[in-house]
Amino acid sequence: MEVDDERRTLIRIVRQRLEALGRAGVDRIPLPSATAIPQPGPIPRASAASPPIPAVVRPPTTAPTRLTSPSPPPPAPAPPKVAPVVAPIPARVERAATSPAVAASLFGEPELAAAVPEADRGPQLAVLAAEVAGCARCPLLAEARTQTVFGEGSATARLMFVGEAPGADEDRTGRPFVGRAGVLLTDMITKGMGLARDEVYIANVLKSRPPENRTPLADEIAHCLPYLERQVEIIRPQFLCLLGKTAASALLETALPLGRLRGKWHRYRGIPAIVTYHPAALLRNPAWKKEAWEDLQVLMQAMGLKAPERKKP
Ligand code: URA
Repeated sequence: MEVDDERRTLIRIVRQRLEALGRAGVDRIPLPSATAIPQPGPIPRASAASPPIPAVVRPPTTAPTRLTSPSPPPPAPAPPKVAPVVAPIPARVERAATSPAVAASLFGEPELAAAVPEADRGPQLAVLAAEVAGCARCPLLAEARTQTVFGEGSATARLMFVGEAPGADEDRTGRPFVGRAGVLLTDMITKGMGLARDEVYIANVLKSRPPENRTPLADEIAHCLPYLERQVEIIRPQFLCLLGKTAASALLETALPLGRLRGKWHRYRGIPAIVTYHPAALLRNPAWKKEAWEDLQVLMQAMGLKAPERKKP
């Protein structure tokens, strides 16, 4: 009993200190040194065929392959520079006490609930999708939408992409990333990573289209985020790829700009997460594709994927 009281007091004191640091604007613990980090532990659901997660992910040494057409993109304003990705994939949360992870939240993250059996994942997603379809937590969005856009892909995907919100094409079809940005994302997945689109899972932070495709409001994100969290919990991907600032800020609970979030591994509830440009941003700024490709290569290396051979013209 006494030990319990002492533990509770200690936890309260530590929490108060951390909250004070948080209020002072400190929300990240810097990585002391790459070599001090122990090998990350196995990630749940890794099949026997999956390669071990490398301790250190290095930037590509070969020239990056283009994501789409071979014609050089027109010049665009240079994106914010970030350090090359050399950080290890952060260990799962249960190892955090002994391995200070890259960009780990000071407050830690709650772990995922117990894994849903693979056979139940599809049915559970379907139940959740039905709930989302009837959601009116954001009356304006519910009123304006044609339909909700829940997400699609493999219920047992190793990799989940998270975007911002449906646009006009998605609102019309009920499917995520099917417009111009979707075509680019599909190319990144298939031509860049050598995966089939239906092998991964694709979802958004918002399930309803914001009017005029405006950036989602904080209360809309707060209303919708629990659905995305549940999707991640059900699918339990081994890796997350967060497309753009809205997805990164919502899941990583950070206000840092994208340039500060790219180029390092993050964790969302123990799941290694990489942040990269939103495909719509890449359409507006084609020069950023090189960096997006570097992000994807980091992800691919961790996933044990090789870029497909490019066909000779
Ligand atoms: N942009 C997004 O963020 N999501 C989509 O589904 C389409 C465009």
